[in-house]
Amino acid sequence: MSSYLFETPEIQSIPVQGEDAKYPINRIFCVGRNYAAHAAEMGVEVDREAPFYFTKSPSANLASGETLPYPPGTDNFHYEMELVLVIGKPVFRVPVEEASKAIYAYGCGLDMTRRDLQLVARSKQRPWDLGKDVEGSAVFAPLTKAAEMGELDDQRIHLEVNGELKQEAQLKDLIHNVQEIVADLSKYYHLVPGDVIMTGTPAGVGPVVAGDVITGGVDGLQPISLTIGDPE
Ligand code: MN
Repeated sequence: MSSYLFETPEIQSIPVQGEDAKYPINRIFCVGRNYAAHAAEMGVEVDREAPFYFTKSPSANLASGETLPYPPGTDNFHYEMELVLVIGKPVFRVPVEEASKAIYAYGCGLDMTRRDLQLVARSKQRPWDLGKDVEGSAVFAPLTKAAEMGELDDQRIHLEVNGELKQEAQLKDLIHNVQEIVADLSKYYHLVPGDVIMTGTPAGVGPVVAGDVITGGVDGLQPISLTIGDPE
């Protein structure tokens, strides 16, 4: 039996509608610039050839409904509302036509971002980690099994801050759809149950401050919320 010098980290997880057991998080992959209007507002061209990715640590997981203290090191902390999918079967080099079988469930997620640090990193051609892998920045609502969601098409994805609409699009606006994302990512990784993919955000990203309440949703999925607290 192994022993460890320090207390082992808690296994991070996301609740699943209709299940007592939770979905355990292995890795969190995030797709960049997957809605044309968002790429435009960020002042960059969309790469339609292939998606690109960054990652967040599983320990960045935060449940919907929680309060996140305004994080250190930023003056421009942004919300990004996203469709999330989670893997339920091991796949490696899976073709697009077979990629759906790997998707266990969908959910709403927030990719909270230190935008000022991300943009500095981008301009200096450095990694995005300080901007993106923020403690508590991977916020997930309870998941809905893929069979209950059905086809992704004209479902509305939206986000409000203090009740005011900020982001709105349809899932069919995704440049790379969920099957294409799973197929492409599986060219580089052995995807396994526990792997979570945030699929990118629509246009309308913007800053929040302490006291703001973020709400969001995707038709057919459990809604998400996050309160921004005072800095620690
Ligand atoms: Mn994002």
